[in-house]
Amino acid sequence: MPKFPGIKGMFLDEEPLIIQGSKGLSGISMPDCGLKKSDLKKSENAYINEKYIRKKPIRLPEVSEPTTVRHFTRLSSWNMCVDTVFYPLGSCTMKYNPKINEKIASLENIKNLHPLTPAGLVQPVLKIAYDFNKILCELTGLAEFSFAPQAGAAGEFAGLKIIKKYFDLKGENRKTILVPDSSHGTNPASSVLAGFMPVEIKTGKAGTLDADELEKYISKDVAAIMITNPNTFGVFEKDIKKISDIMHKNGSFVYMDGANFNAFLGNVMVSDMGIDIIQLNLHKTFSTPHGGGGPGSGAIGVVEILKEYLPIPYVKFHIKKSVNNKSELFYELAEDKKYTIGRMTPFLCSFAIVVRAYAYLLSLGRENIASVSEIAILNANYVKKKLGKILSGSDPFEEGLCMHECVFNDKAIEENGISTLELAKILIDYGFHPPTVYFPKNIHGAIMIEPTETESIKTLDNFIKAVKEIKSKAKKSEALKSPKKTKVGRVNEVMANKQPVFKY
Ligand SMILES: *Cc1c(COP(=O)(O)O)cnc(C)c1O
Repeated sequence: MPKFPGIKGMFLDEEPLIIQGSKGLSGISMPDCGLKKSDLKKSENAYINEKYIRKKPIRLPEVSEPTTVRHFTRLSSWNMCVDTVFYPLGSCTMKYNPKINEKIASLENIKNLHPLTPAGLVQPVLKIAYDFNKILCELTGLAEFSFAPQAGAAGEFAGLKIIKKYFDLKGENRKTILVPDSSHGTNPASSVLAGFMPVEIKTGKAGTLDADELEKYISKDVAAIMITNPNTFGVFEKDIKKISDIMHKNGSFVYMDGANFNAFLGNVMVSDMGIDIIQLNLHKTFSTPHGGGGPGSGAIGVVEILKEYLPIPYVKFHIKKSVNNKSELFYELAEDKKYTIGRMTPFLCSFAIVVRAYAYLLSLGRENIASVSEIAILNANYVKKKLGKILSGSDPFEEGLCMHECVFNDKAIEENGISTLELAKILIDYGFHPPTVYFPKNIHGAIMIEPTETESIKTLDNFIKAVKEIKSKAKKSEALKSPKKTKVGRVNEVMANKQPVFKY
């Protein structure tokens, strides 16, 4: 058995960049543009309206290139990331991202592409967007996708806007979105943003939504159900088809939060579940580095009757005769969607995310796609089996099997005097990123582990061993001091949230 990764060694100190600089230093050398500062103010030049010209220069760091590079590289070494440690953050799918995706997304023709380049000069690029759309349709059974939403939650918002517009045009004023308590927290928030009222439905003992329970909430005011599947307990909604049938009978839609597509990619068709709209988090399932607010893609897919509501622009093609009279496809950005909810981005999408997702699928190959979800489920059930007794004592869900992530309560560790928070903090000293904690909210002291398919059994065993050791060795007084080996120890999380200090 290998040693725990642990944390040891050198953490370089770091001062804010603003005090590392000196007046006049710069990371780049620009040729003289021939303009003097005073020229800016001349009204006949009117480069900038006088009232917009700063009276005092903005206080920005003036630093050289090496100082800048070292600053950010040092800061990055203080963080845990998927390239350094096992990162089992439930619900977030922090899988390892193959470097081939980065390589493809960094090709000059893609990285340096100007979004206003005429379509005739970027045919292969538009073809990637078109083809990848078709691949997602094939993987889900839906009719068309849009990559305009730049995060999962933005996809939810777009989907709900489509539902809103559909009913508005029909002259129906439906206000309610049903949201099971096992949904992701963004679901009720998106409902409110899109102009609906979320109504919570309690899940049953097995952690799933009962069709009978749903029936109690059905009325002509219900626009849709927003269901996370697999839900945030890591459990597949077994009644999903029945649920869809109930909704459709009522003239309502089924929106599925498909951020957890990792759990059934290649094994279950979304269309077979009766879903009308779904968002897929390309940055999670299709392996793009994410977290920390970086770019994402919450691609939304819809059934045939909702295609005309999708955001614009989108990529389409027509057949063109080339010079030697051969027929060829000509791809272009189009805006002719009859009921579109409008634009969500200035251009097509966060294109580099689409390229990474496309590269990821092509490098897997059709024959291997299903094994992504199979191994993700196998790994999660392995952890569930090995840690169930240690963390919870008994399984909080009757079913016994989970999908891509497993959720524990803290019953058994609490008896040993360790809380979920302390377990999470001590794990950092062992060299593991903590799992998601205290979510879902209705599980006492929840610990949510998503190992993903990219981890080996050796890594999982090592993590399991660490949890066991923490449970048997940690004393409450000691635990309160963790993490002890990191650059910054235990912070006051409440104060950090309520009164963040950004200024130096
Ligand atoms: C991550 C996640 C979201 C939100 O996605 P973002 O890209 O962070 O906006 C929504 N639902 C589920 C189930 C998720 O796991």
